[in-house]
Amino acid sequence: MPRAIITGGAGFLGSHLSERLLKEGFEVLVLDNLLTGAVCNIEHLLENDAFSFVKYDVTEYVHVPGPVDVILHFASPASPRDYLEYPIQTLKVGSLGTHKCLGLAKEKGARFLLASTSEVYGDPLIHPQREDYWGNVNPVGPRGVYDEAKRFAEAMVMAYHRFHGVATRIVRIFNTYGPRMRLDDGRALPTFMSQALRGEDVTVYGDGGQTRSFTYVDDLVDGIFRLLNSDVVEPVNIGNPVEMTILEFAQKVIEITGSGSKLVFEPLPEDDPKVRQPDITRARELLKWEPKVNLAQGLDTTLRYFQKKLEKN
Ligand code: NAD
Ligand code: UDP
Repeated sequence: MPRAIITGGAGFLGSHLSERLLKEGFEVLVLDNLLTGAVCNIEHLLENDAFSFVKYDVTEYVHVPGPVDVILHFASPASPRDYLEYPIQTLKVGSLGTHKCLGLAKEKGARFLLASTSEVYGDPLIHPQREDYWGNVNPVGPRGVYDEAKRFAEAMVMAYHRFHGVATRIVRIFNTYGPRMRLDDGRALPTFMSQALRGEDVTVYGDGGQTRSFTYVDDLVDGIFRLLNSDVVEPVNIGNPVEMTILEFAQKVIEITGSGSKLVFEPLPEDDPKVRQPDITRARELLKWEPKVNLAQGLDTTLRYFQKKLEKN
C-alpha cells in the first residue's frame, strides 16, 4: 500500500484529498495543528485502519518513521480573514513548513506536491492568468504574508527539485468551494451562504465588480490527483474558467437559498484582486483535466451541507 502524508489534512481541501487518496488505495497520515482546520472534517475517516491523524505543527522538525511515497503540503491558512489574523503563522508555514516537508520528501525519496495558489499572480495585469505570468504582488500589503509565502514556497520546491532531484509538483489552486468550508472563514461563498440562510444582509465588498472563477472541490481534487500521477514539474493552474463578478455570485447564492436577504455594500479590502480567471490550457493538454461540475450543481451540494451545519449550531 503506498503511503501519503497530507499536511493540513484536517482542513477543507485536505479532508477531501484524504478521502480520495484512501479510495485510491493509499495509507494516509494527516499532520495538522488545527489552526484553521477541525477534527470534525476527518472524524468519519478515523475508523479506517489506513487513516491516521497526528496533531502537529509542520513548521517544527518533522520526523515520520517508516516509508513515505508522497507528501502533499496543504498546511496554511487560506482565507484572507485567517491569514490576516495569523500573519506570522502563514509566513512560517509557507516558508519553514515547506522547507521541513521538502526535507522529509528528500529523506524518504517521496514525491512532493505543493498547494500553491492563484494569489501568486496578485492583482493580475494579464487576464486570464497563464502559468508563465509572474504576477503583480504587493509584498508589504496585508495579503503579502500569504502571497509571498506561497511564492517563496514555489521557489523552495524548485530548488529541491533542481538541486536535490526531488520529484516535485506545484498546483496553483483557484477559488475552490464545497462542503467543509468553515461557515465563518470569511471567504465569499461561506459568508454569502450563511448570511442568506440566516436571512441577514449579504455583504458585497466594493461595488462587487471584481471577478472570480469558482471551482467545485471534487473537480479540484481530481486535477490534483492527475497532477500527482503525472511527470509535470512546472506549476499547473487548476480552476474552473467560468468567471463572474462577485455581485453576480452573491445574487446567485441568494437565489439558490431562496432567501429574502438584501445586498449591502462594504469597503473593498486593500489589494483585493480586481479580476481572476485561470487559463487551463496546460491542465487540459498535460493532465487531460477539465472541470465537470457546474455552479448550480456545486452550490446545491454545498447548500445542503451548510443547512445541516446551521441546524446543528
Ligand atoms: P483550511 O484553512 O481549511 O486548511 C488549512 C489547514 O492547514 C488547516 O487544517 C490548518 O489547521 C492547517 N495548518 C495551518 N498551519 C499549519 C501548521 N503550521 N502545521 C500543520 N497544519 C497547519 O484551508 P483550505 O482551503 O483547505 O486550503 C488548503 C491549502 O490549499 C492551503 O495551502 C491553501 O493555501 C491552498 N489553497 C486553497 C484555495 C481554496 O480556494 N480553498 C485556493 C488556493 C490555495
Ligand atoms: N467578498 C465579498 N464579501 C464577503 C467576502 C468576500 O464581497 O463577505 C469578496 C472579496 O472582496 C473578493 C471576493 O469576494 O473580491 C472573493 O473573496 P474570498 O475571500 O472568497 O477569496 P479571495 O479570492 O479574495 O482570496
